[in-house]
Amino acid sequence: IDEINANTTHVFKSKLPDIPISNHLPLHTYCFQNVSDFPDKPCLIVASTSKTYSFADTHLLCRKTAAGLSNLGIQQGDVIMILLQNCAEFVFAFMGASMIGAVTTTANPFCTSSEIFKQFKASRAKLIITLSQYVDKLRDTTDQNIPKLGQDFTVITIDEPPANCLHFALLSEANENSLPEVSIDPDDPVALPFSSGTTGLPKGVILTHKSLITSVAQQVDGENPNLYLKQQDVVLCVLPLFHIYSLNSVLLCSLRAGAGVLLMHKFEIGVLLELIQQHKVSVAAVVPPLVLALAKNPMVAKFDLGSIRMVLSGAAPLGKELEEALRSRVPQAILGQGYGMTEAGPVLSMCLGFAKKPYPTKSGSCGTVVRNAELKVIDPETGCSLGHNHPGEICIRGPQIMKGYLNDTEATTTTIDVEGWLHTGDIGYVDDDEEVFIVDRVKEIIKFKGFQVPPAELEALLINHSSIADAAVVPQKDEVAGEVPVAFVVRSNGFELTEEAVKEYIAKQVVFYKRVHKVYFVHAIPKSPSGKILRKDLRGKLAAAPSTI
Ligand code: AMP
Repeated sequence: IDEINANTTHVFKSKLPDIPISNHLPLHTYCFQNVSDFPDKPCLIVASTSKTYSFADTHLLCRKTAAGLSNLGIQQGDVIMILLQNCAEFVFAFMGASMIGAVTTTANPFCTSSEIFKQFKASRAKLIITLSQYVDKLRDTTDQNIPKLGQDFTVITIDEPPANCLHFALLSEANENSLPEVSIDPDDPVALPFSSGTTGLPKGVILTHKSLITSVAQQVDGENPNLYLKQQDVVLCVLPLFHIYSLNSVLLCSLRAGAGVLLMHKFEIGVLLELIQQHKVSVAAVVPPLVLALAKNPMVAKFDLGSIRMVLSGAAPLGKELEEALRSRVPQAILGQGYGMTEAGPVLSMCLGFAKKPYPTKSGSCGTVVRNAELKVIDPETGCSLGHNHPGEICIRGPQIMKGYLNDTEATTTTIDVEGWLHTGDIGYVDDDEEVFIVDRVKEIIKFKGFQVPPAELEALLINHSSIADAAVVPQKDEVAGEVPVAFVVRSNGFELTEEAVKEYIAKQVVFYKRVHKVYFVHAIPKSPSGKILRKDLRGKLAAAPSTI
């Protein structure tokens, strides 16, 4: 290939010029920087109650929550865990923590007790903010290794607190004038989402004030064809804020841009359609399974979706057919994709189609690389950088990427190289119009409806089973979820084990999206001489003829 040249690095940049970015500020200062321009505008609209918080209210409640956290002894550098669906308190707690220099780790409240505690312990969190219905999961008294509620950590509930827990009002009703003075360095961490990255178990991803500000600015700042959000937008926030896509591209971007955020705590198509119509939602950030619902559900025809000017899909690949089907439902809207990865801050590229001309969006395209960043595509075998139209591993560089993995230098250095390039484990190419297309993945991760399923985690559980000698977990294509995890299992000599028993064994230990959908019993797991599971072979078998396995 003539475009491969070991001495030349092909670097792709945005089609838009770089912009000045205020990434020397703390995140909360940056996000609320323009509040005095629109103090009374609705900022958070809680869908279930229609309660609305203006920008001024929101800013004040974040400051109060910051003071309350500080009163409880949370200090600069401490970690708090938010274990909540989307709600206003999520926003107050996340921004409040930022204001005192604390760090937030977010987790899915549907996770099992052991999943939550793994993250809780790894992040050394000091308190958990949640709902009373999840508190039982945090009270496992039988396991000596699990920290004890009330003794080792504090639990705050946003509803009536059960025994030994505190009420969120203790935070949100604190006196904002008692906020401690803190000096925050741009490289201090502010968010600690967990991701398994290209390999292995989930790890804490250190996102700093600088990284998140840069990422938000790349999406909504600057003189440009007004890329993503405008002040008059009402943005649908149905994707969980505990995932960085929603936290960053919906919440933080809206706060910065002055757009209203419609907070839905769960997805239900009828309710969602009603809310879009009622609140005149103009921007919908979605994932492919939601596109499927919007494109195919017959209820959609009964509602007026004329307010939507843009649908942005991310977190997993969006098929062209689906995109076309959605287009016919919201013909006035611009449809585009964003391509993100938690470790990348998270947005790598984004559709510029909202500006219509001169940046039309092609079907299947993930837009162009964000501003103030560099993207390259490398040959996974040789590491050489590739030019236009040649698929290879996508790498990204810029101030928005993570600082590294928490307490894991090895994983950090294999993901971010010495030149500062973050290797995504995604295979894609950049076409002649600088648009990014993702075509495959070389990393292990399985994506179920946009949620991460780390095969290593399921394999560790399977191998722990007394009747299982070896196991491997790989993705299988699925029309609704995109991918589902399936297991290849080697039974221990002489042991009886049914598919149902394996599925049940896993289901008891993991959150719903990590459940194994199919079990194939095999005699051996294919491995490389160094002992690495040859996942490609297993994926190939599944794609070719699953019935013959
Ligand atoms: P997460 O860290 O959970 O956001 O997962 C990141 C991974 O999701 C990426 O590395 C990709 O494999 C996948 N992904 C995200 N956005 C897209 C997209 N628009 N198209 C294809 N894959 C995507």
